[in-house]
Amino acid sequence: MTEWKFTRLPDQPTRKIKISDEVEIGNPDETVLIAGPCSIESWEQIETVAKCLVNNGVKILRAGCYKPRTNPYSFRGLEEDGLKMLAEVRDKYGLKIITEVKDSTQVQTVLKYADIVQIGAKAMWDYGILSQLSKTQTPTLVKRAFGATTQEACQITEYILSGGNENVMICERGIRTFEPNTRFTLDLCGAQWIKEHTNLPLILDPSHAMGFRYGVPNLALACVASGTDSLMLEIHPDPSVAKSDASQQLELSQFENLVSKLHKVANSVDKKII
Ligand code: PEP
Ligand code: MN
Repeated sequence: MTEWKFTRLPDQPTRKIKISDEVEIGNPDETVLIAGPCSIESWEQIETVAKCLVNNGVKILRAGCYKPRTNPYSFRGLEEDGLKMLAEVRDKYGLKIITEVKDSTQVQTVLKYADIVQIGAKAMWDYGILSQLSKTQTPTLVKRAFGATTQEACQITEYILSGGNENVMICERGIRTFEPNTRFTLDLCGAQWIKEHTNLPLILDPSHAMGFRYGVPNLALACVASGTDSLMLEIHPDPSVAKSDASQQLELSQFENLVSKLHKVANSVDKKII
């Protein structure tokens, strides 16, 4: 079998990605929560979410500023104005931020503001993005494309690793199957393959997989029980008016309720939620 940089060698632990002095992703004793809206829409919206994260002990805020949309006339994000707001909210509330790049022209701008760069599922094969991120040490999250095998997604992480960036993580966010009732199918089997065979920290994103609010809390509990290194959730102060992914974002009260249950599930698998 070919040995890749992502291949887990015998007795080798998962690589740990340092996000701040208090947070690293890939520590076997911890599950790192990441939450926030699909898109940043306004200062008021993002500040409300930031306060909710602080109150619930969550250290990493997610929010997109460049949104890949199926319909090009729908909301495509606040772009650099959004990044500036994210940086401001980060400083005000002591959070770290993860935000997405959609194409290679945005990488250098996003790098000025982001603590973690997310490569969206639809951009997984954008070699312009990959080569620029491979030349940094910025923590980089590769989202598995919904039509890619686990091996193909890991080969994308290989490209970034081989360029010199050691801080690469992988996210399972649902793949397309023959099942039409949910947006995608969260591939928890593939996730276990990744944990067994690679040294990449694993992030699970049940929000994009399910596509509907109602299933997300139970899936989130299952993700934590399955031993994921990190869990990413979409939350919004008023999902009914969200400009993207409105149907799947949790209300803040639902999220708060969920966090206390996540702690209990994490305890039962000898992990701590941070
Ligand atoms: C997102 O995280 O909001 C997003 C667009 O995700 P994905 O790339 O997995 O569709
Ligand atoms: Mn989204």
